[in-house]
Amino acid sequence: MKEKGTISIHTENIFPIIKKFLYSDNEIFLRELVSNAADATQKIKRLASLGQYNGELGELKVEVAFDEEAKTITISDNGLGMTDEEIKKYINQIAFSGATEFVEKFKDAKDANEIIGKFGLGFYSAFMVSDLVEINTLSYQDGAKSAAWVCDGSTEYEIKEGTRTTRGTDIILHVNKESEEFLNKQKLQTILDKYFKFLPVTLVFGTETDSIEDGEDAEGKKQYKSVEVPNVINSAKPIWTQAPADLKDEDYLQFYKELYPFSEDPLFWIHLNVDYPFNLTGVLYFPKLKKDVEIQRNKIKLFSRQVFITDEVKDIVPEFLMLLHGVIDSPDIPLNVSRSFLQADSNVKKINSYITKKVAEKLSELFKKDREAYEAKWSDIGIFVKYGMISEEKFYDKAKDFTLLTNTDNKHYTLDEYHNKVKDIQTDKDGNVVYLYTVDPAKQDAFIQSAIKKSYDVLLMDTPIDAHFVSHMEHKLDKTQLKRVDANTIDKLIDKDEKLEHVLSEDETKKVTEIFEKAINKAVYKVEIEALSPDEMPVTVTMDEFMRRMKDMAAMGGGM
Ligand code: ADP
Ligand code: MG
Repeated sequence: MKEKGTISIHTENIFPIIKKFLYSDNEIFLRELVSNAADATQKIKRLASLGQYNGELGELKVEVAFDEEAKTITISDNGLGMTDEEIKKYINQIAFSGATEFVEKFKDAKDANEIIGKFGLGFYSAFMVSDLVEINTLSYQDGAKSAAWVCDGSTEYEIKEGTRTTRGTDIILHVNKESEEFLNKQKLQTILDKYFKFLPVTLVFGTETDSIEDGEDAEGKKQYKSVEVPNVINSAKPIWTQAPADLKDEDYLQFYKELYPFSEDPLFWIHLNVDYPFNLTGVLYFPKLKKDVEIQRNKIKLFSRQVFITDEVKDIVPEFLMLLHGVIDSPDIPLNVSRSFLQADSNVKKINSYITKKVAEKLSELFKKDREAYEAKWSDIGIFVKYGMISEEKFYDKAKDFTLLTNTDNKHYTLDEYHNKVKDIQTDKDGNVVYLYTVDPAKQDAFIQSAIKKSYDVLLMDTPIDAHFVSHMEHKLDKTQLKRVDANTIDKLIDKDEKLEHVLSEDETKKVTEIFEKAINKAVYKVEIEALSPDEMPVTVTMDEFMRRMKDMAAMGGGM
């Protein structure tokens, strides 16, 4: 049995194109080949469970090995294997069914992911790093003969008898000159760790030295010896594949530590699990945010059937939840297509709103179950909630019931509670309820005290998101205005009908005003000598509310 043939594509030689365009993320070859090997083991398992394979399954595993001298990398599995007919069908034809289209479109492709997924080039990514690729395989089918396939990256291939005596497949890559960096233990280990920490089938890469007990010496002290044991890349069943009912808090916390070794414990988490109308599992964590530390984005890892794909989850996770941490696993996300396609994809849209809904439900549950605990976490949660309310209408509608306003006494109120609290004393002539707030309680203390003396309440709006939140809430809340406690409008808006005598004469007032105006920027600030009771501030320097907001926004740099 020996046969030569031509890979059925309509172009002379596709491999230079693949190499050229896939070069930047060429480590993907390993992701694709190990995934294929893992798929092969899952397939034989399934055949066995369906009663279509009655042989010994054995311990299913995938192995990666390399030989620095021979310049080869070998990916082996004891999966279902292939017959020579199957090689022809799956390797020679299927992989290139989209070749014509590929050649037309390759110019627009932005990265390897895009090409590989769209055109079913998973296996052919081997040629990104190889001069020659060999397949040596034995199918599980009764009476199957081992088959081998060799291809040097041209469109010519050769099929001959193989040498494999046990079920499964070896893919042998003869690594090309430019890719010799991959013939390195550390390099391969790093790539395997990145993609396959949670692969569902054992993945072995060489051996590692372990020390085991070796009896006792004359004084009864334990002796140890070094042994070589398989170096297994993946860990036990990752928690997102398990049922929430089988998991304890410690399991979630431990998994978090595994993902982000140097982080503080998260505040809480949400276990995602849905199989209709799309398939998605995962665990999202709310991290503890440090106020003055740059907020870390892109901490969510996206997997597809337990193979790491990317930590770029934009579009899949709503923008305001990009600060969350954790894992999402879905075979239904079209991982391999361009961003614009992703945004338009209906599954992606559904997943996005599913996540928003889940997060809102979880927050609502926490709020209802234990308000005290919820309030204690509010300084961290609040940032997500406010960000979410500003950016997603659907989230706003849910969050308005569990968002909290905090006043300068550090008391928390829901929107409804707060409205009821202040509506009677803080309503202006036009019937608007006026919420007073401070962006810096230390600097604005005099203004706060003065407002409190008038029995007004002052809200704390001192986090980076609050400048935007204030504008948004004013726009959202009916007949309600938010005013900075030191803005020049408070006493005009909250009409107390107080008639106080000016302590200074008109002339004195003018003089004092001039003194103050000399010291400040008149364009921005306004000096007012007020008619106040003697224990209050006779002079206030205020800024127009509009100017204030502009300043607050500018200080925030326009966003988070
Ligand atoms: P995909 O994995 O998306 O089907 P690939 O190009 O990665 O596309 O692989 C093409 C086909 O080749 C696979 O669907 C499978 O039938 C076959 N194949 C590849 N690697 C193996 C393997 N290690 N064992 C058995 N079959 C394999
Ligand atoms: Mg594949």
